Amino acid sequence: MSKYDFDLFVLGAGSGGVRAARIAAAYGARVGICEQSEVGGTCVIRGCVPKKLLSYAAHFADDLEDAAGYGWQIGPSSFSWERLIEYKDREINRLNGVYLRLLDNASVRLYPVHGKFVDSHHIQLGEDKVSAEKILIATGGHPWVPEIPGHEHSITSDEAFHLKSLPRRIIIVGGGYIACEFAGIFSGLGSEVIQVYRGDQIMRGFDHDVREALAQEMIARGIRIMLNTNVTELNRDSHGLLTAMMDDANSMHADTVMFATGRVPNVRDLGLRDAGVEARPGGTIPVDEYSRTNLEHIFAVGDVTGRVNLTPVALREGHAFADTEFGGNPRPVSHDFIPSAVFSNPQVGTVGYSEEDARLHFGELQIFRSEFTPMKHTLSGRKEKTMMKLLVQASTDRVVGLHMVGLDAAEIVQGFAVAIKSGLTKQQFDDTTGIHPTAAEELVTMRTPL
Ligand code: NDP
Repeated sequence: MSKYDFDLFVLGAGSGGVRAARIAAAYGARVGICEQSEVGGTCVIRGCVPKKLLSYAAHFADDLEDAAGYGWQIGPSSFSWERLIEYKDREINRLNGVYLRLLDNASVRLYPVHGKFVDSHHIQLGEDKVSAEKILIATGGHPWVPEIPGHEHSITSDEAFHLKSLPRRIIIVGGGYIACEFAGIFSGLGSEVIQVYRGDQIMRGFDHDVREALAQEMIARGIRIMLNTNVTELNRDSHGLLTAMMDDANSMHADTVMFATGRVPNVRDLGLRDAGVEARPGGTIPVDEYSRTNLEHIFAVGDVTGRVNLTPVALREGHAFADTEFGGNPRPVSHDFIPSAVFSNPQVGTVGYSEEDARLHFGELQIFRSEFTPMKHTLSGRKEKTMMKLLVQASTDRVVGLHMVGLDAAEIVQGFAVAIKSGLTKQQFDDTTGIHPTAAEELVTMRTPL
């Protein structure tokens, strides 16, 4: 009989934590997990899932407009933010229930409270204290907002999902995933959107053609993008109207200001020091390829490690950890060629290296690039282009980057990610027959490098 209450205790019931707990329990481990908020974590409760639902809602505005080009005459339409939020909440509650049942069916014991290390084998859970042989930290992260004067008047993505009404005019600060996604959502639903970004082009780190193409399309949709600009102060008047002061001495009014300026790990009040777990100055927990911290029996997965902050990555890390520690199948997680999508409008899908990074890693490149009007818009009349780009290492013919901005980019790039991850060559792309008529066939028919 083990001297511990649990073989594994997991801090945080988000994507990575729940996956690890379930898989370890299926291998026969006695598993406990704690969660101070709703089970499901950022992705399910206040991230990817509700965001995608809102994004679908915003796209209906396009569909209603585009239908006219196909002979449809649509009568007066109206949109209710309140109803959208109510239906979205219903779905999120359903998913929360699914996650609770998953844990229950796996016989994982849930403690719905904040957990904190007492020492390296003991966790305080409210009044309870439990011991565990191995411990997994999967506490995720939360939005970070710069502490400018008046920042308390702003919201983050957490609150954006629960606004009482649709903003008439919203200022979104940031140029990354969340800022671009919410700019598309709010503008599609009818808000006037001003996106303020400190750098010289949005989506830093993405391929330059992606950044340009996305910015152009967003601007064409009426989103005002202010580059090289910082919000330095916020003031709220007695009617609730906000004034944002900019570092160029201009100011702007809006009823909502949202910061999407990055996320930081949830490590406050975790007792990491009492356990002896090392963290970086920003709070992320360094781990090895098996997600092991500086202590032999304490592990960490997901956003709290600051590796690649994406749900599918946390799921893979959690699964690999459980296989390694409880399933007798040691396996590290590869963080190479991870595809991702930005659910902006239009979407971005990407896998592999940007042109800039590919040059550094792979030397000489062959670059294939195509920009075209998607077939749907020949009749809809929408002036939206699709951009696709392939980067090929000249010396090996391997495709090392694939980028797309346009309709269905996320769905298309997921399929191609298998080919890129598997190291396929441009010749193998060329040998693949296209499906006609699709946009994706362009990726196997581009023949002339730039
Ligand atoms: P990002 O890191 O993507 O973007 C943060 C943005 O805020 C950047 O444009 C950054 O500018 C800017 N910024 C940072 N600090 C300041 C500051 N002090 N003043 C002004 N601007 C600032 O973070 P997000 O919050 O958008 O998202 C967090 C992470 O969540 C993402 O990186 C991604 O991993 C994940 N995510 C993934 C999604 C998906 O897969 N679809 C969707 C949403 C989130 P700069 O570029 O100059 O540093």
